[in-house]
Formats: sequence, structure tokens, C-alpha cells
Amino acid sequence: MQWEVVIGLETHVQLSTHSKIFSGADNSFGGEPNAHACAIDMALPGALPVINRGAVIRAAQFGLAIGAKVAERSVFDRKNYFYPDLPKGYQISQFELPIVLGGELSCLVTPKGKDPYVKVVQLTRAHLEEDAGKSNHGIRPGETGVDLNRAGTPLIEIVTEPVMHSADEAVAYAKTLHALVVWLGITEGNLQNGNFRCDVNVSVRPKGETKLGTRCEIKNVNSFKFLQAAIEYEVERQIELIEDGGTVVQQTRLYDPDHDETRPMRSKEDSMDYRYFPDPDLLPCVLTKQEIEELRKGLPELPREMFERLQKEDGLSAYDAGILTSSRGVARYYDSLAHLVKDKKAAANWVMGEVNAALNQTEGLSIEDAPVTPETLAQIMNRVSDGTINLKGAKKVFAAVWAGDQSGVDALIGKLGLKQISDTGAVEAMVDEVLAKNAPMVEQYKSGKQKAFNALVGQVMKAARGKASPALVNQLLHKKLG
Ligand code: ADP
Ligand code: MG
Repeated sequence: MQWEVVIGLETHVQLSTHSKIFSGADNSFGGEPNAHACAIDMALPGALPVINRGAVIRAAQFGLAIGAKVAERSVFDRKNYFYPDLPKGYQISQFELPIVLGGELSCLVTPKGKDPYVKVVQLTRAHLEEDAGKSNHGIRPGETGVDLNRAGTPLIEIVTEPVMHSADEAVAYAKTLHALVVWLGITEGNLQNGNFRCDVNVSVRPKGETKLGTRCEIKNVNSFKFLQAAIEYEVERQIELIEDGGTVVQQTRLYDPDHDETRPMRSKEDSMDYRYFPDPDLLPCVLTKQEIEELRKGLPELPREMFERLQKEDGLSAYDAGILTSSRGVARYYDSLAHLVKDKKAAANWVMGEVNAALNQTEGLSIEDAPVTPETLAQIMNRVSDGTINLKGAKKVFAAVWAGDQSGVDALIGKLGLKQISDTGAVEAMVDEVLAKNAPMVEQYKSGKQKAFNALVGQVMKAARGKASPALVNQLLHKKLG
């Protein structure tokens, strides 16, 4: 039987506000357990929540960036459940009237060994809610500690329609979404710290069937690698189960990276089990049309807008533009560099080539902290375009600056002896000498062998110990050979 996979994602994004969503308590990550727990988080009697405007604004900015409808009026509800790290006995969330409705995200899917394609993922909604605390199991043998530092941290939960059909599509979506929320500056986006966590719903159905199959939800996946592996495992598990005559039961599961498998956690609640109702302690969340318009105008250039601009104005290919807009850091680096040099394609090549490779070799270094700044790289590139050094020499200068040499680009060119021979007469003499010594090669070239020409270029470059301008050598050779 042929199977179709169906996937929907719910992603929790922690918003980077200074304080928590319903109190002024510190919203920074880490610290001693409960150092940032406040009266609301601890459910002290009489403590009343007040909405943090910064969280509302960030949620609205997200909605505008994905072309969604931002609600002028949304409502906070209580989602009731019992858990030790939730002293109130309910989480404040949004249920019937969320702040963001609809919208979509175009994602570049790059399946291994197949052609890349664009997948448009429709979003259902995004709502504001508070995060729960954390239970730390086994802090002492047999005991669990409750840490409320994370309780009350503002989140948006972003929900997609069940429209993805492979792990590749789900990962492409998650990466695109992550890049966007970081780009907008509404989250730190640190996956290790749990700033971006995916719950992934997976089902399978016979190809051609229109009714959705029973789904399982894998909770709290916080790496793209695990997301891919968890979905692949879960799809195989469900297909095998059905083919062996069993049925999938709706369930919440956890992915265990150590064993590369998903395991059941609990049977899945239906929304009615949460007994949602509007929180009487909070007013509806209101944004006027005018406020929403102001926010729209204040949005930065978005990845897809920059993607179009790089193709239209800088003449880059869709592929290059896609890579250069895949993160805010890379995009900013490229833009700064491209402003300072003429050849945009060369700038793109430097960023995707040398800069990217050097970053990959330096664990944990982000492009914002690259030792070769766009300004320095522009200087290096301009020394290539004015003929002072060639590309090979430029890469040496780049490597030296990256390794920490601060003597400056021009000083380095001198120090490393990379200056090209700019005296045309001197290069011409070398060309003449090479032609005289390599009569057979010249013959071969004249009888139509292009390879022989390249070999002659190589000989001249060798004679010049790599310091002649390849363009000049080419030009002189062509002239002499007629
Ligand atoms: P819940 O109340 O459990 O959060 P929702 O109806 O809000 O359930 O759906 C949660 C996510 O699961 C959404 O992203 C949705 O697209 C996805 N989803 C729903 N049904 C299925 C299914 N049968 N297969 C795969 N994904 C599904
Ligand atoms: Mg849900």
C-alpha cells in the first residue's frame, strides 16, 4: 500500500521581553531556581495579572510578517490542568479569540538527492500564552524540585494546518519560521535554552484517502536534527503498526535521541478536558486599527522581500538570494559588504564561500562576531579589483585577518609578499620567455587545443611566482598568439 504522511506543527516561541507576560518579574534565562519567581507564578492569593504590552506587540509583528490577520480584540483564557510546576492550576492562554489568525510561510525544501522546491505552509493561528515552570526530577534521590523561573515567560504558540507531507517539509518550515522570528527580533531564538520548541503532529493515510488518519503528537522537540529523526521514526512506526493489523491511538509521545525512537507519554487530552474559559482577571487584549498600521509600517525588510531585492537589484540567482536571506546575520553581513564593493556576485561568493567556511570551522562563533568585518572584506575585495592582489592572495589576507592579524589589509599584503607585478613590461618579458621555451605548446594551441593555452598561462604564473595578474597574462598571451 502507498501511504501519505500528514504533519502539522505547533511551535512555542519565547518572546524576548524584559519582564514576564503578566508581571514585572525578570524574564532573563537561568539564575538560581526560583530567583525570578513572582507572586503570580507562585499563585499567591490576591495576586493579579497585568498584560505586558511588549509581548502583545511582538505577537502582532509576527502576524503582520506572515500576512495574517491581527485581531483588534483577543481574549485570554484559562487552560486548566494539574501539574506541580503550575501552582495556579491553570495556564493563561488564548483559545477562541487568538491574536493572530491565518497567514502563510514560503519554505525552501531541499530533500537529499532531489530537486529543491518551494512549499507554502498555511498557518492556522498564533496565540499568546505564559510558559509553565520546570520540574527537575532527581535533584535529590527520589525527589523532584520545582523551578518557577520560566513560569510566566511570554510565548507565542504558532499552529500550522496539517499540510506538510514529509520530515523534509516540516524541517524546512521550522527553519524558515525560526529564521523569521529571529529576523524580526521578537525572540533570542536560542534552541538549547528552549526559546523555540516544536510539538509535531504526525499521521498517515492511504494515498488518495481524504480523511485524516489518527495522529500522534511528539512534544517539545528543540533541534532540527531531532525533528527530522522523530518524524521519520514515527512515520515508520505508524505504517508498520497499521500494516500489521493494528490501529494508531491518539497519543502524546516523547522523542528520545539516545535511542532514536518515540515513546508514549500520555493519552492525549481533548480541548474540552482543559475546561477553557475567559480569565476574569484580565481585560481583553485590544489593538486599534491605527496601532496595527503603525506596527506594519515599522516592520523591517522581511526575508522574502530581501530575497526579491537581491535578485532584482543585485542580479543574484534565486539560489544565492535564498542562502543570503536564510538568517538575519548573514543577510546583514552581505548587505554591508555589497554596499562597499561593485561586484555583488563576488560579494555573494565571498559570504557563501570563505566567510561561511571560516564560521563553520569556529565552533559557536556567530557571523556578527566574525573577525573579518564586512568593511575589512570590502578592502580586501577592492585590492583584487584594482589589481593589487589576485584572488588567491586575497584569500590569504582573509585567512590572516580571521586568525587575528590586526596589522591592516595593505600592511598584510606587503608582509605576505602578495603584491602582483603591476609593471606590464615585466610581465610581457616573462610571457615572451615562456613562449620561446615552449614552442610545442604554442604549436598545439595553434592547431586548436584550448588546453595548451591554459598550460601557457600556468607557465607564466609560475615564472611570476603567482604574482602576475591572471587577467593581464591572459590578455598578453592572446595578443602575442594572435
Ligand atoms: P490540539 O487541540 O491537540 O492542539 P489542534 O486541532 O489544535 O489540536 O491541532 C494541533 C496540530 O495538529 C495542528 O498543527 C494541526 O494541523 C495538526 N493536526 C491535526 N490533525 C492532524 C492529523 N490527523 N495529522 C497530522 N496533523 C494533524
Ligand atoms: Mg494545540
